[in-house]
Formats: sequence, structure tokens, C-alpha cells
Amino acid sequence: MNKITLVVPCYNEEEALPLFYQEVNKIIKQFEKVDFEFLFIDDGSKDKTLEILRELSIKDKRVRYISFSRNFGKEAGLYAGLLNATGDYVAVMDVDLQDPPHLLLEMYDLIVNEGYDCVATRRVTRVGEPPIRSFFASLFYKLINKISKTEFVDGARDFRLMTRQMVDAILTLTEYNRFSKGIFGWVGFKTKWIEYENIKRVAGTTKWSFWKLFIYSIEGIVAFSTIPLSIASIMGILFCLVAFLMIIVIIIKTLIFGDPTSGWPSLVCIIFLVSGVQLFCLGIIGQYLSKTYLETKKRPIYITKETEKTYEKKKH
Ligand code: UDP
Ligand code: MG
Repeated sequence: MNKITLVVPCYNEEEALPLFYQEVNKIIKQFEKVDFEFLFIDDGSKDKTLEILRELSIKDKRVRYISFSRNFGKEAGLYAGLLNATGDYVAVMDVDLQDPPHLLLEMYDLIVNEGYDCVATRRVTRVGEPPIRSFFASLFYKLINKISKTEFVDGARDFRLMTRQMVDAILTLTEYNRFSKGIFGWVGFKTKWIEYENIKRVAGTTKWSFWKLFIYSIEGIVAFSTIPLSIASIMGILFCLVAFLMIIVIIIKTLIFGDPTSGWPSLVCIIFLVSGVQLFCLGIIGQYLSKTYLETKKRPIYITKETEKTYEKKKH
């Protein structure tokens, strides 16, 4: 019998968690001859998420959980989930029911009967999202697809079902700075995209502020493209050319009109511009350097504090 593991990262999701469990159970019943395993990742929640997970795991033997020692972020949660999943197929989904569980049926069918390695989802609308966020999101996708060899699909969600082979491939990427949207694309494999309209969260609030998303997008660019590093060289050449032209213009002007000592405002502007560009380029190098620094430390991606097994042992 085939087994599907559902990897579900949760951070302060006491409201959404019971609803999720209930909804998914309804769908699971419709599967024939498939075992299920729930693998919840409690990402250092400060509310009752862990208590709910403990209860669920006692009531339902299919429920497993990993509780982190602190908040490590969703990417770390996904990694922990994939690493500890025991299923032949692994699905990754959010707990807020923004990823419609009924799609699992279709996804499983596509993988088993049509030979896909992975069925992923993308939302075609961004209803209920601030327009400015949508604007920057689409800008980000345009940009990163230009400068990265890995394909990034606009509106792609993390919700997907994968074969064991693809999960193992993802796990060979042990980098500390994880950008899953890129990693999923980078490993390749035959992926089918299912589209659906954006759905609002059932309960709770999103953990992503605009600022957090902005920083996340920069992480994505740094992780999957080195083009920004060439910006310094391109700008350098450009500025040399401009300076060269200006020197010629000034020499000719001086020869024709003499040498009046005006022009310091333009000089100040140029100094500001050039030093601005220099700092900008230095900042880009700094971004890559900081990521390299973090990678070389080889810190663990997450730290486990409790799982359903250690909890049971403690009780006895
Ligand atoms: N999440 C997490 N750790 C975090 C932030 C979020 O595990 O630090 C989980 C969260 O519980 C949810 C999923 O990641 O299951 C997606 O989060 P959210 O719904 O806030 O993001 P959005 O859907 O708005 O992009
Ligand atoms: Mg959500």
C-alpha cells in the first residue's frame, strides 16, 4: 500500500490547526488503498499549537510532529518535514487551508497514472491581497526569471505532491539559506502545474509583512543568481566611459572659453552619485558575503525540542 506524508509547517496556528485536521480527514477518506501520515512542524509557536498537536498525536496514530526549540522559519520547517517524512509520496501544505486539500486527489492521480514526478500548484489571482504587494510580487518574478537559470513560476505556492525520488533529490541540497521555490525548480523532474484562484485564510493572520517578503525576495535572488555581482563591473565600465567623454568635453570647453572656476554644484552631484553607486555595489557584495559566511558556519537548519515519540516516553 502506498503512503502519503503530509508535511505541514505551523507557526502560531491554534485556530487553523483543528479546522485543517478536520477538512483534510474528509478528503483522506476518499482515497482508496492509500495510507496517510501527518507530519506537523511546530515552528516554535507561542500559542497552544503544540498542545493541540500532542492531543492529536495521542488520538490519531497517523499524526506525528516535530516541535522546534524556537522559530526557525517556514523554510526550516519544510526541510525538517521532508527529512523526516516516511511516505512514498510527500505533500507540502499550509495549515491555513489556503491550499485546498481536495486537490490532493487530483494530484495523486496525476502522479500515479500519468507519470509525473511532482504536481505543484499556482494561484492565478491574488484576490484579497494588497495591490502593492501583488505589484512587487510580479516584479520580483519578472526580475528573477531574467537573472536566474532556475525557472520561477509566478504565483507558485509551496503546496505540492512529490515522489520519494524527488524528495530525496531535494534533501541532497543541504544549504543553510533555503529558498524552496527555487530549490523545487532547481532539482528538475517532470512537474505538472494545477491552477486555482486565491483563497483567504480560514483563521489567524498571515505571518508575512511586506518588509519580511522584501527581505525574502532578496534572499531568493542571492541564492539563485550571481548576476547582481556583475553589476559593479558593468557600472564601473559605464562610469569610466562617461568620465572619459566628460574629460574630452572639458578640455575642448577650456580651450575655447578659457577656464572659469564655476561648476562646483555639478561636482558635488557627481561625487554623490558615484559614491552612492559604490556603496550600492559594496552592499551587493556584502549580501553574497554574508550568505557565504552563514553557509560556512554549517549550523543546523533546525533544532528539535520535542516529537510525538519523546513526548510519549516522558509521559510513561
Ligand atoms: N509558517 C511557519 N513558520 C513561520 C511562518 C509561517 O511554519 O515562521 C507557516 C504557517 O503556519 C503556515 C505557512 O507557513 O502554515 C504559511 O504561512 P502564512 O499563511 O502566514 O503565509 P501566506 O499564506 O500568507 O504566504
Ligand atoms: Mg497562508
